Order: sequence, then structure tokens, then C-alpha cells
Amino acid sequence: ATPMSIMTATGTGAQMGVLIKNAEALERFEKIDTLIVDKTGTLTEGKPKLVAVLPDKGHDEAEVLRLAASLERGSEHPLAEAIVRGAEERGVELVKAEDFEAITGKGVKGIVDGKAVALGNAALIRDMGLDSGALVGTANARRDEGETVMFIVLDGAIAGLVSVADPVKETTPAALKALHELGFRIIMATGDNERTAQAVASRLGIDEIRADVLPEDKARIIRELQDQGRKVAMAGDGVNDAPALAQADVGIAMGTGADVAIESAGFTLVKGNLDGIVRARKLSLATMGNIR
Ligand code: ADP
Ligand code: MG
Repeated sequence: ATPMSIMTATGTGAQMGVLIKNAEALERFEKIDTLIVDKTGTLTEGKPKLVAVLPDKGHDEAEVLRLAASLERGSEHPLAEAIVRGAEERGVELVKAEDFEAITGKGVKGIVDGKAVALGNAALIRDMGLDSGALVGTANARRDEGETVMFIVLDGAIAGLVSVADPVKETTPAALKALHELGFRIIMATGDNERTAQAVASRLGIDEIRADVLPEDKARIIRELQDQGRKVAMAGDGVNDAPALAQADVGIAMGTGADVAIESAGFTLVKGNLDGIVRARKLSLATMGNIR
């Protein structure tokens, strides 16, 4: 590739809201056939809202929410913010938690008002040796709406669940349609539950999903696809996505996302929506076409 055409493309990209780190990223992008997208914050707005608090028998809704939200004040996860904001909006007074512990990709634990509180997904419940069986029907009904369900554990027993909804970005459906037309196979990778992932994916016409993945799994999934000869780009926004962005043939960070994601990526989409990938692909094809 001539340095001149790459420089021109870099300038054009910047005007389009696509920051291109180097010539290699642009060159490699032409060959990409598979696009992995993170769900939360990439396909969705990443600003989830608390939509339901469902206490188990013998538990009080406001109290369950108070304990859960007090614990989540220690976490920076978007789900935690949703629970804290939801509690504040409902006028619930929060207290300070002790012995706070975050379990990556699973949830949080700590002590609130002398009670052992844990909040997280089915994997967390399993790790604690508990059975979420009685709540599965309720949880699945919410997941089928695309919501994310978290279980609350108080002093070693399940006390209910909270459900959070994260709307799909307005720009996502049209961007995915255009990306399909450009020939990409689109795979959604998410730490979220399979059922929630499937509900979101089928609305968007996504080709394949990988759900319940831990952050380190995202990089492994990409490596496996590469071993099968696929050329893989990965779009993500979170701290958790950084290893996968680095592993991908082209990493694509949301400009609205975490700094380490941006540092690990070859492209940054300034506006933080997938439209930028459509423009980047056309730019890459045009530039590489000019060079040959
Ligand atoms: P994503 O790929 O959707 O960004 P993460 O790997 O960050 O997902 O989290 C996976 C799952 O772990 C979440 O869907 C949630 O169920 C659980 N989880 C993670 N962090 C928290 C938290 N602070 N509070 C409750 N649950 C959490
Ligand atoms: Mg994310």
C-alpha cells in the first residue's frame, strides 16, 4: 500500500467518524468476513434500566432492593448503575456495604447491614451451591423479552430476582442490515444469558450467538474462528472486551467505551455506533482498490 493513499484514507475516515490507527488495520479490514459484536454497549445503549424487582415468598420488595443496591454501589458495571439508579428513583435509602467483592462476568458479593448479600447470574448461583430452580420460569419469561435477570442471595438463600432492560441503539438495526449486505457473517458474543441473547439476536437477525461467555472466552472464540481460516473483526466497548479486540484481525472500539478498549483497537468509531463499520468497509475497499 502506498503511504499516500493510506494517509488520504485516514483523513477521510476521521471525517466519517472512524479513527484508523494504522495502515495494517485498514489493509486487513478488506479481508474480514466475520464480525463479532459485543451486546451490551455495542448493539444496545449500554444504559440499562431497572424494570422489575421480584422478591421470593417471605421477602419484602423494598428491602431486597435496598440490600442489592447498597451492595452494587461498589461496582462500576452498567448493571450495577441500573440497580442503584432504580433504587434511588424509588426513594430507597442506601447504606454502606462491607467486604465488597466483584466476581468478573458473574456478579458481586458483600456484607450489608450485617447480612451476607450476593447478586448475579446463574453461574454465580451455581458457584454458591444454590439452586435457582423455583425462579426459572419467572426468569425465563423476562429473558424472552431481552431483559437481563440477576438473582439476589441473602444469608445463603435465594431471596428473589431483579430484572434490567437495555434498549437496542436506534442505529443498530439499519447498520446490521447494511453489514449483512456487505457480506459479513455477524456473531454476537455476550456475558449475558443465552435466552436473553437469543431474544435480542432474533429481533436483529444476527447469524449466530455465543452467550454466557467470560471475558477471556471472547478472545478464545476469535482464535478458534481464525484457526478455521476466518478473518475476524471484533466490535466492543468494555474493559472486558480489550483482550478480544487485541486478538481480532481488526479490533473496533466504540468511541463511547472504555479507554483500554480504544487502545486495543485498530479502529475507533467516534459516535459509538455500528454505522461507522459500514463506512470503514467501503473506505477500505476503495482504498485497497486504488492501491492495486
Ligand atoms: P457483557 O458481555 O454483557 O458486558 P459481563 O461479562 O460484564 O457481560 O457480565 C456477565 C453477567 O454477569 C451479567 O449479565 C450479569 O448477569 C453478571 N454480572 C456482572 N457484573 C455484575 C454486577 N455488578 N451485578 C450483578 N450482576 C453482574
Ligand atoms: Mg459490554
